[in-house]
Amino acid sequence: MRIKDLDQLKVREDVFDEITLLALYKMVNKGWISAIGGSISTGKEANVFLADRKEEQVAIKIYMTRTANFQKMQNYIAGDRRFINIGKTRRDIVFAWTRKEFSNLKRALEAGLAVPKPLVFDRNILVMEFLGEDEIPYPQLRVAKIPDPAVVYASLMESLRILWQTAKLVHGDLSEYNILYGGGKAWLIDMGQAVTPDHPHSIIFLRRDLEQLNRFFSPLCETMVLIEAMRQVTGI
Ligand code: ADP
Ligand code: MN
Repeated sequence: MRIKDLDQLKVREDVFDEITLLALYKMVNKGWISAIGGSISTGKEANVFLADRKEEQVAIKIYMTRTANFQKMQNYIAGDRRFINIGKTRRDIVFAWTRKEFSNLKRALEAGLAVPKPLVFDRNILVMEFLGEDEIPYPQLRVAKIPDPAVVYASLMESLRILWQTAKLVHGDLSEYNILYGGGKAWLIDMGQAVTPDHPHSIIFLRRDLEQLNRFFSPLCETMVLIEAMRQVTGI
């Protein structure tokens, strides 16, 4: 759908609430996006759409202020020194969460990791690189055809090591749903909840991420003993 005015956006009021409509409209006015395409994913907390930005295709993730699990969001934000004084309302938390995902993706990208490049954000909307080809998003790892699981497992272990040691982040919600596989690479996505290693729960999150990775890969290839995997990632 081409967007020329707010009325056009209101056609989709079923999916976009008032805050989202305004944020989208602002993005169109600033030239950050020019059209909204089909839905890529509808989740409990966020919807992801294909969109046009200049000649490129991008993915826009819209956090829903109404249904977001903002108690969980608060817990993750609370231990993070990057996010003090953000305000207390539901909207404040969701906006901070969007900013947090943007900044996490940026840190991961700067560390050289395969993540969608974050482009811009506003309020509850994050615009990022679209991972896919010909408008088809890369599949989630859980349904992807993986030619050599041992190689992909090793590359993900190395990604987690770089994420911890260079980007200084723990993903915190790693699973075969939050890894896309395409173009011969495994991509980490959905980084809103990622925290820094000085977060009080960072080690617990890291252990859970590694357990998830091992659970998925253990029927497919040899995996590392958990304690060894923890050592490899943290370097301790
Ligand atoms: P959530 O799980 O909170 O709903 P995600 O960030 O995991 O949000 O996105 C949901 C789904 O949308 C992903 O599993 C993936 O299939 C798709 N998706 C998300 N970001 C992109 C992207 N940049 N490019 C292509 N597909 C994406
Ligand atoms: Mn997800």
